[in-house]
Amino acid sequence: MDRKYYVTTAIDYTNDVIHVGHAYQKLLADVLARYHRQTGYKTYFLTGTDEHGQKVERGAKEKGVDPKDFVDKIAKEDKKQWDKLNISYDRFIRTTDEDHVKFAQEFYLKAKANGDIYKAKYKGFYCEGCESFKEVTELNEEKCEFHPTKEIQKIEEENYFFALSKYQKFLLDHIKKNPEFVWPDSKRGEIVSFIKSGLKDFSISRQKVVWGIPVPDDPTHTIYVWFDALINYLTYGRQENCWPADVHVLGKDNQRFHAIYWPAMLKSAGYKLPKTILVHDFISLNGQKVSKSLGNVILPSELIEKFSVDGVRYYFLRFGPLTNDVDITLEKITHVYNSDLANGLGNLVSRVAKMCEKSKFTFKSKETKLYPEVVKALEEFRFDNALKFIWEKITEVDQEINNAEPWKLEGKKLNEFLQDAVLSIKHIAYNLQPFLPETADKVEKIFSGQKIKASEPLFPRLK
Ligand SMILES: [Zn+2]
Repeated sequence: MDRKYYVTTAIDYTNDVIHVGHAYQKLLADVLARYHRQTGYKTYFLTGTDEHGQKVERGAKEKGVDPKDFVDKIAKEDKKQWDKLNISYDRFIRTTDEDHVKFAQEFYLKAKANGDIYKAKYKGFYCEGCESFKEVTELNEEKCEFHPTKEIQKIEEENYFFALSKYQKFLLDHIKKNPEFVWPDSKRGEIVSFIKSGLKDFSISRQKVVWGIPVPDDPTHTIYVWFDALINYLTYGRQENCWPADVHVLGKDNQRFHAIYWPAMLKSAGYKLPKTILVHDFISLNGQKVSKSLGNVILPSELIEKFSVDGVRYYFLRFGPLTNDVDITLEKITHVYNSDLANGLGNLVSRVAKMCEKSKFTFKSKETKLYPEVVKALEEFRFDNALKFIWEKITEVDQEINNAEPWKLEGKKLNEFLQDAVLSIKHIAYNLQPFLPETADKVEKIFSGQKIKASEPLFPRLK
């Protein structure tokens, strides 16, 4: 049997170009995809953009452009950001793609045929930032917890509803039987207690929004957010025959929709459930939430210009908001860049390469392998621990050099020493492959071939 691995990120909403706050989950998914490719899986990696809805409709109108032209431009910009960050997606899906539109309608009809979709009057609150209706209990002083600077809207209209409440027991049973369904444990706990507090049916259509997928059997309505956006995972998964997904990577603002709505919708329409919902926390910049309204938005490309692509990847993957919110400053990134990359990995590589060049050493190639500690950390989604272990190895090799004082050795002894040192560095590079692919390739190249030569520093020191 072919081993397959299907990983997704949340798709970003195209009211505006993404920023550095969106980068972390793309990096996590990218590491999982690269690691599985490296270990022989047929890998499917999906990312993309969520392009319908009220905010896009309004944004396009304000600019006096067609909504499709509006989202075309933003999707292109988003994609450029992910390409700069070396995100190795296999498909960049857009919810305006023809195959997605067609399948979202098909999915809707399946849930309806199962008796889970009905018409009713909706009265309530709606946060444009989250694109979702809110219960009174979810608001802080009539404000959304994720968008405290935005006014919450009061809404009343006829909608189609999805009978989520029917799935309460099913969801609790599923999570109990499959504890790996939500990661980490703390988030699983939040999900379970939310389900136990009682699930309410939710609205899945809108009458006033035109920019969206028409409800197939009542085109006076437009399919609303979740029955459009979430379906993207299955649009691609069915096509590639790789469903169910192994991991959906997403931020905590999306956890309820992925761990509650989505599995209920899949069950209703007769599809298998994804294996794991991986939920990460958020970053803040200099103590503030990253947000356009606060004016502190940084693009991944701006950080890459200063710290290089792997400088950015390293910082986020090692110190990012995996299970806790994390505050980021340029000073912190600069410090880590200099100590771990310029002085740590970069210095080790140039030190050993120089010795090899000087003594005209040639490496007899041996198999490279993944450290069991790195494999274990990745299987547990501890990206941070995997890098921590690799950096311990870097320190270890550095210390071995200091202890052996190879500059005093000659002939066979020096040769043996360099053989070991280069092999260690090759192992390190191989293990870095999923995290810092560009650097791993550079290191591999330096120590391959007949003549090893010292090259430009991998990570020039920053002031
Ligand atoms: Zn909100």
